[in-house]
Amino acid sequence: MIVDDLHEVQENVLNACKRANRNPDEVTLIAVSKTKPVSMLEEVYADGVRNFGENKVQELCDKYEVLPKDIRWHMIGHLQRNKVKYLIGKTCLIHSVDSVRLAETIEHEAAKKDTIMSILIEVNVAQEDSKFGLHVEEVMEMVETISKMPHIRIEGLMTIAPFVDDAEENRTIFRQLKQLSVDIGSKNMNNVNMNGLSMGMSGDYQVAIEEGATLVRVGTSIFGRRNYQV
Ligand SMILES: *Cc1c(COP(=O)(O)O)cnc(C)c1O
Repeated sequence: MIVDDLHEVQENVLNACKRANRNPDEVTLIAVSKTKPVSMLEEVYADGVRNFGENKVQELCDKYEVLPKDIRWHMIGHLQRNKVKYLIGKTCLIHSVDSVRLAETIEHEAAKKDTIMSILIEVNVAQEDSKFGLHVEEVMEMVETISKMPHIRIEGLMTIAPFVDDAEENRTIFRQLKQLSVDIGSKNMNNVNMNGLSMGMSGDYQVAIEEGATLVRVGTSIFGRRNYQV
C-alpha cells in the first residue's frame, strides 16, 4: 500500500530528525512522483502530502493541470532553457540550476510574468561525469552572478549523491554540501539565502537529514519502483 509506505518514510524522517536533534518542521519530504499515474498522487494527496517532485516539464505541467492547486510542485530534473517558460508560475522551486545561461532564461521568463522564481544551485559534489551540476569550486562565483538577477531568489543548494549500496558512503558528500552552504551563507550576499539544502533520495535520505537536509526527494520508497518501459 502506497500510504503505508509513505507513513514508514515519514516515520523514518522523524526518527532521523530525533537522532540529529533537529526540529522536524525544518525538513520537507518531497514525494517524487515522476512516471507515476495521477491516481497514485491523489492517494498520497488525500493523506496530506502537498509537496511533489517531477523531473520533466511536460509531465509536471500535465499533472499540475489536473491536480489541486494547493500542491507545491518541485522541478528536480535537468532543465532545458526552451522549457523554462512553461514552468514559471507552476513550480515553487527549481532545484536544478547549474548554469548562468539557464538562470538568465529563468530571469527573463520570471520578469515577463512579473514574478520571482525561487531556485537552488545544483552541485555535483561527487564529481560524477554522468551527472549535471557545478563542481564545488565553481559555485561561489555562480551564486554571486545569479544573485544580481532581480527575478530570481537563490534559496540554497541541491545535490544528487551517487547510487550506493550503503547510505553511509554518501555521508561525506552531504557534509560537503552543507559546509559549502555555510561558507556561502557567511558572505551575506543580497538576494541569497542558504537555508535550503535539497539532498537525500530513497537510499540515503535518513543520512542526509542527519547531515542537515531541509528537502528530501523520495520516490521509490513511497511509490515503488519506476517502470521506464511504458
Ligand atoms: C528520481 C529522482 C529522485 C527520487 O529517487 P528515488 O531513488 O526513487 O527516491 C530524487 N531526486 C532526483 C533529482 C530524481 O531525479
